[in-house]
Formats: sequence, structure tokens, C-alpha cells
Amino acid sequence: MQQILMLDNGGRPCEWVPPEKAFSLKRRGAIAWGVGEDLEFHAGVSNHTGEPSILRVPAIISVRNQTFAGRVPFCNATLFARDQHICCYCGLRFTRSMLTKEHIHPQSKGGATSWLNCAAACQ
Ligand SMILES: [Zn+2]
Repeated sequence: MQQILMLDNGGRPCEWVPPEKAFSLKRRGAIAWGVGEDLEFHAGVSNHTGEPSILRVPAIISVRNQTFAGRVPFCNATLFARDQHICCYCGLRFTRSMLTKEHIHPQSKGGATSWLNCAAACQ
């Protein structure tokens, strides 16, 4: 079945969601913006009119108050993927085994191990 790509506030992909979920977000006004052609889904028969219901949602939606950090577990693999395996210092691309998690505000000075305070760096 066709799925909808859900993005967070910043336009980063979060996950694929089924059309029912996308439509429910749309009905609640939770979609900030959408791009792509509207996809049509048949959703049974309307209780009110007896006519077949057709739901329309864009192929890609950005959801309000949705943060990348809330959806994807934080670990080296997801951090390196976010940074596209590019070192934050030299700008070169490395394999996963050659990268390390760098704290921007050092851990020894109270820096958090979080999406906002960490970046991929070469060893
Ligand atoms: Zn580097």
C-alpha cells in the first residue's frame, strides 16, 4: 500500500506512515505543509451520504511539533547517519568504524549526550 513520508519541523524524514494516520493528522490540523501530488485513498463508505469516501493527502507531509529527536533512538549509528558519515572537523566522509561521537560541549563540563550536542567526527 502507498505510504506517506512524514517529516519533522525541520524537514527531516521521520518515518513512513499509512494514509489513515496522515489523514488523521490532517484532520487535526497537525500538518504544517505538504509537498508532492495529493494521493487519493478509498476509505470505505461515508456514514452520512452513503457515498464512497476518498481521502486526499500530500505524498510528503511536515508535521507540527514533531522533532527528529523524539522519533529516532539516539545512538552512534543514527547519529552518523544524520551527519551522513561526514566528520564535523575535516568535512570528509568516513566509514562507521572510523567515526566517533564528539561532544560539542564536552561531557566533562556537563555537555549532554544528545542530538543537539553531538556530532560525528573522525578518530
Ligand atoms: Zn575529521
